[in-house]
Amino acid sequence: MRQVIVNITPQEYFFQRTHGYYHILPATKHYGEPGFSPGITIIEDSRNTYVTNVDSVTGNEIKVDVPLAAEKIAADLLRNEDLEKMGCFVSESTKPSDRDMQGAYKTLLQTYREAVAEANMEWQRTHRYEFISDLARRGARHMGMDVEWSDDVKPKIDCPGCGERIPATVARHTCGAIIDIDRAESAGMIDGEEAKRLRKLRSGKKPKVEEEEKEKEAVQA
Ligand SMILES: [Zn+2]
Repeated sequence: MRQVIVNITPQEYFFQRTHGYYHILPATKHYGEPGFSPGITIIEDSRNTYVTNVDSVTGNEIKVDVPLAAEKIAADLLRNEDLEKMGCFVSESTKPSDRDMQGAYKTLLQTYREAVAEANMEWQRTHRYEFISDLARRGARHMGMDVEWSDDVKPKIDCPGCGERIPATVARHTCGAIIDIDRAESAGMIDGEEAKRLRKLRSGKKPKVEEEEKEKEAVQA
């Protein structure tokens, strides 16, 4: 009997099996978001064809055709592909109940939290974006979590004053360190004198300038 797989996330999936090719359709949004409508995929009964032997006289393959119930296919996809942890479930109807979707959503949030926790640990250890799973990114985005490794967070730098990780766009950090002199001055965070002093201080730090000054001194001497 045909099965209905409901998906309450905007993520779609593709699976290849010997008995068919399965495309699990996405929802429009996450469950609970405005404009949400679940992804509904119908799984039909299928057949698996096996070659059991070859006829020694004719050389023809002897095949056996085994019917495969949609229930088994759906159960395989949900369990072996972890779909049941990703906000998918088998429904009796193409119009799933709110209660069923709420249950799937609760499981999904748990999956997201675990993936984010794992990503945080990975980030602590390696600081490498390529080790962060897509699942963790999706979870952090959906739950609005502020994580350092998300794609959509602003780039960060080490504050030269206190060493804290801060957004690179900050003009003046709360510790008092000026990151961007021009913007701090135009925003009235520092006066013209202070800006001038800081610019001089910073340009003086460049080794090239120091070398030039030493050369001048040498010429004058
Ligand atoms: Zn600082």
